[in-house]
Amino acid sequence: MILKNIEMQGFKSFADKIYLDFNSGITAIVGPNGSGKSNISDAIRWVMGEQSIKSLRGSKMEDVIFSGTEKRKALGFAEVTLTLDNSSGIFDIDFPDLQVTRRIYRSGESEYYINKTTCRLKDIHELFMDTGLGRDGYSIIGQGQIDNILSTKSEDRRQIFEEASGISKYKYRKNEAEKKLSQTTENLTRVKDILSELE
Ligand code: ATP
Repeated sequence: MILKNIEMQGFKSFADKIYLDFNSGITAIVGPNGSGKSNISDAIRWVMGEQSIKSLRGSKMEDVIFSGTEKRKALGFAEVTLTLDNSSGIFDIDFPDLQVTRRIYRSGESEYYINKTTCRLKDIHELFMDTGLGRDGYSIIGQGQIDNILSTKSEDRRQIFEEASGISKYKYRKNEAEKKLSQTTENLTRVKDILSELE
């Protein structure tokens, strides 16, 4: 899977709109301390649906929006678009490229898009499931995360293997189906109650 490009505006230290193209092979991002290297990986994590602000090194979701400097006013929104190559068809969409966009306003309102079509966070989550990317993926390993993985409970480690082996999606669908089934059973019970009252 190839990360082709990232475009962002107003995300953390990146007030202006920037484009980063990733060519084939290995890309290394270098720069002085505090220049924004980790903010780029935060942006990638965020656009793929990260909801834990702790993982994004903030205290509230609004912290991902450019907060201003002495010379520049804070911005009202942050937006990140990630373009991934889909020529192998790994993502369940009929396009050669997958473009995922996330936008957040200071009001807390969020918007999500898949190939410029508005969608829910759930759709983005489902799209990345079993690809190793996404909120629960293992493609981005942060500083200190290896230690965390090794010291977590065996059930949590199991989740990583489940994602890698491609069964997370099926487990997720099974849970969703079970939820619907129990909701339907409850509805049926209510219908039966009403029917018996009418008889
Ligand atoms: P290091 O090499 O030390 O790990 P880095 O290059 O990875 O550093 P980052 O952690 O990506 O640097 O960037 C930190 C910078 O981003 C800090 O200067 C911080 O003030 C700035 N920053 C973080 N959030 C915001 C925000 N919401 N608005 C403006 N600037 C921000």
